[in-house]
Amino acid sequence: MKNDIFPKKIISPDEALVVINYLSDGLIVFNEQKKLSFINLFAQKIFGVDDRVLGIDIEEMVNFSGLKEVFFLLGKEINELNRKELEINKKMILEVSSFPLFKESRKIGYLVILHDVTREKSIEKMKTDFVSLSAHQLRTPLSSINWALDTLLKERLGKLNESQKTLLEQAKESNQRMLALVRDLLDVVKIEEGKYLGKLVPSDFLKIVQDVIKNYQEEIKKKEIKFQLQLTSNKIPKINIDQEKIYSVVQNLIDNALRYSFAGGMIIVSINTDENNLIFSVSDSGIGIPKEDQNNIFNKFFRSSNATRLETEGNGLGLFVSKNIIEAHGGKIWFESEENQGSTFYFTLPLK
Ligand code: ADP
Repeated sequence: MKNDIFPKKIISPDEALVVINYLSDGLIVFNEQKKLSFINLFAQKIFGVDDRVLGIDIEEMVNFSGLKEVFFLLGKEINELNRKELEINKKMILEVSSFPLFKESRKIGYLVILHDVTREKSIEKMKTDFVSLSAHQLRTPLSSINWALDTLLKERLGKLNESQKTLLEQAKESNQRMLALVRDLLDVVKIEEGKYLGKLVPSDFLKIVQDVIKNYQEEIKKKEIKFQLQLTSNKIPKINIDQEKIYSVVQNLIDNALRYSFAGGMIIVSINTDENNLIFSVSDSGIGIPKEDQNNIFNKFFRSSNATRLETEGNGLGLFVSKNIIEAHGGKIWFESEENQGSTFYFTLPLK
């Protein structure tokens, strides 16, 4: 049958060249000898060069102000790159990808694609600035409210009756939840700005874990949780960490294990070491994580539906922040879980 909707048409090389030149991505091609054999109009415009660069050796790119940056990224062997960011003259941000080109399994050269992400980056920055500004602006009034509620609850301004006390306690709890959210948002902003970790100091990891557990004693008793701390090494060497941040990761994992467990459940916290790493884990017999949600667990603001059903409070930021903290220390974080059976969260921290 004749196909009138998609008539077959093969474009000529000249027409293909026009199309490539009008692309809003920059393209640079190197031949097998790593000589620049093609640069489309968009890339010429970005770097302020013209056809005269054709034929230069990759190493000669250092003689052209814009192209120099691309050379430093590619290296003289032309590394394979996947969306590596490159800032040009503090004005433009490009995502650079590069890979070898093959024709009938013979390498014929290399293609470099330059995608302009300046607009996306500036929108992302505006979003981060907005979150940062709102969180900072909220923190001060929320802290004042906290102070005022504390003053009233401590009966410094007069005796309270039972219903006044209950009401103020509820108000204080809600206010503290808002303060915790503001703190988490400020952490997210810092992570996105890439300035998150404080000073790394040699620290006693076991003591951090014990301190966190101490703060949860009441909750553990209230929920009648069977709680165990298991140590496999006799002596855990001191490790270089940002203590406050690692404390918050340990706290987040233990807090989740408790919140997503039923009364009477079991939680096992363990600390192991191997040759290179300290390995920390928190295992619970709680609600578990549905299979279809497991890929999203470390994403910002993500919460599973079984978790929101059991526990309405939560913002889905804890694990996102924890992952960033652990990876910034050179460690790894992951989990194993089965819905209705329980979860085990693990992280490693390099010993050296
Ligand atoms: P939050 O607990 O405030 O929702 P987190 O980032 O700490 O935020 O966790 C994200 C989500 O991961 C939770 O909402 C829940 O769906 C899931 N999750 C985390 N820890 C556990 C756990 N121990 N058991 C079951 N689900 C968990």
